[in-house]
Amino acid sequence: MTLKPDPTLEPEPFRIAVASLDALQAVAEAMAQAMPGDAFVTLTGDLGAGKTTFVKALAAAAGIDPREVISPTFGLMHLHSLPGGGPARRLLHADLYRLSGPADLAEIGWDDAVAAPGWVLVEWPDRAGNVLPADRLEIEIQIDSETGRTLLLTPRGLLHEQLVASVRERVQEGLAAITASPPKGLLRGLSDI
Ligand code: ADP
Ligand code: MG
Repeated sequence: MTLKPDPTLEPEPFRIAVASLDALQAVAEAMAQAMPGDAFVTLTGDLGAGKTTFVKALAAAAGIDPREVISPTFGLMHLHSLPGGGPARRLLHADLYRLSGPADLAEIGWDDAVAAPGWVLVEWPDRAGNVLPADRLEIEIQIDSETGRTLLLTPRGLLHEQLVASVRERVQEGLAAITASPPKGLLRGLSDI
């Protein structure tokens, strides 16, 4: 008898413990380097867990001023152009906290926004019901202490399995190596906010 993995089992999330904002930035750098052009990432966790902060860190890693990344009060989606010639030309940041339900997605132009090429990062994805793409990365952020967080990365689908494998490799190689020469000002910029 051979033992095969049971496809109905929940995939085991990849856990990353981050002790500080700088460590979070290092993880974001690792992820930004490995993200495919059409990455779709959901962020869950309590208010104040660090979902928006993670988007800021990723934006900073991609060369966007993290101060541009804010929690939307009126619009639920913000579009940021990515500088440089990377595979993703834009970063769409959606915060669906104030969405009443999936029926309101049409009103905010969700389908077109998400279909366009680029990275998509979504806070409060549960508000969108079951319209999320099958291939995506789910990140749950747990609060361990004032500055400590645990990131739980669960890939759904091949594209994002590859992303997590790549992030895992980079994290295991040592985050110190990744942060050895961060782009000037980025770490400072994030810690200042
Ligand atoms: P959310 O979007 O999940 O509601 P925010 O990102 O707006 O949460 O807020 C998280 C808060 O926690 C920010 O003030 C951030 O500076 C702080 N924080 C401290 N340490 C960390 C960390 N390691 N990762 C993420 N946020 C952190
Ligand atoms: Mg937020």
